[in-house]
Amino acid sequence: MANLCAQCGKRNNPFAGEALPLGNGRCLCSTCVRPIRNALDGMYYVRNDTELTETRNKILSSAQQLYSQDIIDCIDRIAVQRGKSSPYYQYKQHHVPSGKVGNKIETLASIFTALGVVLSIILMIVIISIDSDLAILGIIISVLGCIMAWLSNLLLHGFGRLVSSSERIVELLSKK
Ligand SMILES: [Zn+2]
Repeated sequence: MANLCAQCGKRNNPFAGEALPLGNGRCLCSTCVRPIRNALDGMYYVRNDTELTETRNKILSSAQQLYSQDIIDCIDRIAVQRGKSSPYYQYKQHHVPSGKVGNKIETLASIFTALGVVLSIILMIVIISIDSDLAILGIIISVLGCIMAWLSNLLLHGFGRLVSSSERIVELLSKK
């Protein structure tokens, strides 16, 4: 790959450092890329969204003083790619959806429990209002209904935790 530098037109001097490939067979020689090299490498090490945006803007504002627009576009594309391959971005990508599934199941568990308790009490009231002699039966059904609701709550919550933790394990394993 003896590409000429898209900025200065010279061949890269390998003793001065690596050239930056721009894609489509073009590159920036080590001398021309030097002013933005540190910031570009820094895209790998961002720790939050603010740093991601700030580092990208820093690269763009330096690039605007040095290079032509098509080179700036290439550099921005490289910066975005590096940001996406950063451990922070990878972690964010995997973390958000995994939390969502487990949390949804646990929210559903709470809703089902509340519904179960409310239905049991309504059923008891209906039975007693139909025939007051069946009061004891109504109370027993209501208590059993509440116990069932509590048990299903326990099972669904447990399932939600299981989903969350197994997704966390997958996330940890896929990092390395
Ligand atoms: Zn150059």
